[in-house]
Amino acid sequence: MKCARCKEKAFEKFRGRYYCTNCFIKKYEEAVKSTIKRYKMIKEGEKILAALSGGKDSVAMLSVLSRFGFDLEALHIDLGIGDYSRKSLEISNKIAEILNVELNVVSLKSYGFTVDDVKKKECSVCGNAKRYLMNRFARENGFDVIATGHCAEDILSNFFKNLYSGNVEWSEKQKPRIEGFDKIVTRIRPLYEMSERENLLYVMARDLPFLYEECPKAPSTRWKEIIYDIERKVPNFKINCLRTLARERERKLEDYRYCKVCGEITTTEICQFCRNVMKFRNPQLR
Ligand code: AMP
Ligand code: ZN
Repeated sequence: MKCARCKEKAFEKFRGRYYCTNCFIKKYEEAVKSTIKRYKMIKEGEKILAALSGGKDSVAMLSVLSRFGFDLEALHIDLGIGDYSRKSLEISNKIAEILNVELNVVSLKSYGFTVDDVKKKECSVCGNAKRYLMNRFARENGFDVIATGHCAEDILSNFFKNLYSGNVEWSEKQKPRIEGFDKIVTRIRPLYEMSERENLLYVMARDLPFLYEECPKAPSTRWKEIIYDIERKVPNFKINCLRTLARERERKLEDYRYCKVCGEITTTEICQFCRNVMKFRNPQLR
């Protein structure tokens, strides 16, 4: 098999065509760049704090952002999950050195506990600690945005998990850029439209080290498996859902108004019902 761009020996398939390692890297980076542009994820002059866990997704994200030349530093949070955390920190140090990005490390232990001290519901405590520490570090150190390595399957499986458990407010947060307010720093997800397979192949093509192991306390992957199952039956399911989620605005009260024709509540000048009445009006019924 030959590369579709340069006829070198093919490495892997990316969005329907085979590419050599160099062209794969180029195609992948172009795709991330266009995702960042599409969702206006990074504004001019913004200082980015990239959350680096050492897994393939955040390694891919940090690599791409550093190659794009953004004003960038990384943050690793040591959660104190035994050997897993030790290895994550080791890889994060290595990656930051290879990519020549400054790495900051915050340790949950310095707040008096570690994830290993928590007996039940580790994942929610851990998720909360990560969000809290990232936000606080970013704000206290003058960063404008926090970038995380969430990939397409992460976002969709989070969406379905939250929809399933009735957490609608959380579902609304599965967006590429969530504006900060008050003490909350803006968050971005540069890999919003990239799949975990693409991220893995990219770090392999770039020959970057990453932690292959999953967190020993990680929740089951069944929601991700469901996403893959649906995608197999409904091609483009992932990308269409992601784009819908990204478009869906949080409806604020001021978005609502009164229909110019009938006075009922609507989000447009003339409500959908009145537009339908005008469109389908049958003179014989008058
Ligand atoms: P997760 O919450 O494990 O699915 O990870 C989602 C994203 O959060 C990763 O892609 C990273 O950007 C970030 N993240 C997760 N764990 C850590 C960590 N220990 N330190 C810094 N960032 C992390
Ligand atoms: Zn090529």
